[in-house]
Amino acid sequence: MNKTIRIALAGNPNSGKTTLFNLLTGARQHVGNYPGVTVEKRQGSRKHNGYEFEITDLPGTYSLTAYSVEEVVARDFIVEERPDAVVDVLDASNLERNLYLAVQLIELGVPLVLALNMSDVAKARGIEFDLARLSELLGVAIVPMAAVKGTGAKELLEAVVAVAEKSVTFTRPVISYGADLDKAKADLAEVIATRDGISGDYVAEWMALKLLEDDEQVRRRVKAPDVLRSVAEHNRQLEVRLGDAPENVIADSRYAFIAGACREAVRSSVESRRNMSDKLDAVVTNRILGLPLFLGLMYVVFQLTFTLGGPPMDWIEAGTGWLADTVSGWWPEGSESALRSLLVDGVIAGVGGVIIFLPNILLLFLAIAILEDSGYMARAAFIMDRLMHKIGLHGKSFIPMLIGFGCSVPAIMATRTLENERDRLTTILVTPLMSCGARLPIYALLIPAFFPRSLHAPMLWLIYLIGVVLAVLAAKCLRSTLFKGETHPLVMELPPYRMPTIRGVAVHVWERGWLYLKKAGTLILGISIVMWAMTSYPKKPEFQRDYEAETARYEEQGMEEEAERLANEQHAEELAHSISGRIGHGLEPLLKPLGFDWRIGTALLGAFAAKEVFVAQLGIVYSIGEADEESEALRDRLRANHSPLVAFCIMLFCLVSAPCMATIAVTKRETNSWKWALFQLGGLTALAYGLTFIVFQVGSRLGIGVA
Ligand code: GDP
Ligand code: MG
Repeated sequence: MNKTIRIALAGNPNSGKTTLFNLLTGARQHVGNYPGVTVEKRQGSRKHNGYEFEITDLPGTYSLTAYSVEEVVARDFIVEERPDAVVDVLDASNLERNLYLAVQLIELGVPLVLALNMSDVAKARGIEFDLARLSELLGVAIVPMAAVKGTGAKELLEAVVAVAEKSVTFTRPVISYGADLDKAKADLAEVIATRDGISGDYVAEWMALKLLEDDEQVRRRVKAPDVLRSVAEHNRQLEVRLGDAPENVIADSRYAFIAGACREAVRSSVESRRNMSDKLDAVVTNRILGLPLFLGLMYVVFQLTFTLGGPPMDWIEAGTGWLADTVSGWWPEGSESALRSLLVDGVIAGVGGVIIFLPNILLLFLAIAILEDSGYMARAAFIMDRLMHKIGLHGKSFIPMLIGFGCSVPAIMATRTLENERDRLTTILVTPLMSCGARLPIYALLIPAFFPRSLHAPMLWLIYLIGVVLAVLAAKCLRSTLFKGETHPLVMELPPYRMPTIRGVAVHVWERGWLYLKKAGTLILGISIVMWAMTSYPKKPEFQRDYEAETARYEEQGMEEEAERLANEQHAEELAHSISGRIGHGLEPLLKPLGFDWRIGTALLGAFAAKEVFVAQLGIVYSIGEADEESEALRDRLRANHSPLVAFCIMLFCLVSAPCMATIAVTKRETNSWKWALFQLGGLTALAYGLTFIVFQVGSRLGIGVA
């Protein structure tokens, strides 16, 4: 008994379907009509290698929308009859246009073989194909042929057998329609898949996409009014965000995907007409020029972010200062109040410390939204892809890691553009190793305190470099252990360049900015209160000295400075007594092998709230009072107590260890699990401990930087 394999031939009109059909079936065919419509249905059969092939010639279509009878007939046949293989006949001399249908068959997830027909015409026109690459990028089998000359039929049947029998498997490419559409699609697909009786023969993901394309036929099939309402709502919102109908954006994304794949796997020796977009691409994605251009552009973005962000940051600082003074003023001067301390030192200082980065974050997101919406970012990801692949990451991981130099919070939020879960998690976990802006004050304090001027710049550079190298190593390590799995080949999507709309950009920026603010108002508010309580309680009932009496004496004699010094010493004594100080003391045995004492331990706890708090905390434990990264007094005290080796170890530890609480919170939210947030916290802290331990132990044995 021969095994039967049912094949459907799909393809654009005039791609040679009928010619191929005749070649395969010879005289063994009959012609009828599809039920209910006057569309010709040709069926025939063929024996080969012990298989019986039943072949149906579908009407020629350019797409799988529901706009014409032919399209509906073709797609219903494929979905309802479930042929063992769909052969999409392509005109090789006009590949880009023909692949539009192929991409939709890929979306539909049917067993597919591409027959690259008219390859004789393509050859005569000087078009060459890298078939292995094209097959890898599209995730389907491709067989070159020339139906009119009778070549390639046997190979085609063999490929069909392999696909129908599942003896070869391909990784289907993930086609992205942009973050907004992808999310809407995933949401809808989940609803469709979990509700009985909606999807029927259809794949939920495909139905979701079709609903977003406003496909009338699929809509009629869904029936459920609440699902349809949700579709309408998604479509309304998407239209605002995208500044265009979702179905147009989806079509553009398909063409972008195809253009990218062809660019990599199809060469033409004949110079074709080039439009503006091609000319731009020739420069922007040029092998030599592409990378420096991209890096230069990023440099400009960062420079602008920090220069333009400066003034509003000053305003916010002044605003929170004014608020702190106003709230302080509610209590009579000099009176002790736990509530005042909570509001001023806890809430306003904690939340203010996070909000101050809002201008930078908004500006950075503004620049990124413009680059994304204009079509450049898709190309940039591709430029970086080759480099990033070497460390097992995706080209799109580059942007979040770059943003990480500014602040890990928006960086982790930016990983949403990564479709692959493993790529995304790896990127989220290693991003805090990119030294963020808040760590800079720590380096700015320590480097000038301990190292000669000639070493200032190299030291700073070294610290940043260590962060990058560790991020690369950690990513490689995670990708080969926890997140093992192949990286998808990236098809550079080449969407048409277009002018970003003000509305679209504004919506994107606002969305991300709002997320950040919401976090400042909830989780960070909570943690700030906890950190405040830890540094304020328990209160010390009795002091070693009678500070009040001594202060009164100094003030009487007009010795302001001495009085202030005294207040600082009292503050330091209080901090040492607090939970935070005690934890610092308690950690001392653990920190000793790193060269740290309890003071540094206490300050490190503060650094967990926000990295820049480290310097202020250090000021308090060393009784310097309000210290910033320019404080010479603090530098003197540090020099008196520690060696350059310890200073380096502090910087190393701060660079690698537990990212700040805001980062942990955003990791939790973006991965939707405390597991990954705690893994990040624990993993990075353990790494920091191990590295600092080695550096301090080896350094002190060899006598490097101990003087
Ligand atoms: P259909 O509309 O997809 O059924 O396409 P047809 O089978 O009717 O073919 C359209 C035209 O292309 C006919 O004139 C065929 O002779 C021609 N044709 C089909 N396959 C090939 C091929 O491989 N090479 C060349 N040069 N012409 C072909
Ligand atoms: Mg035909």
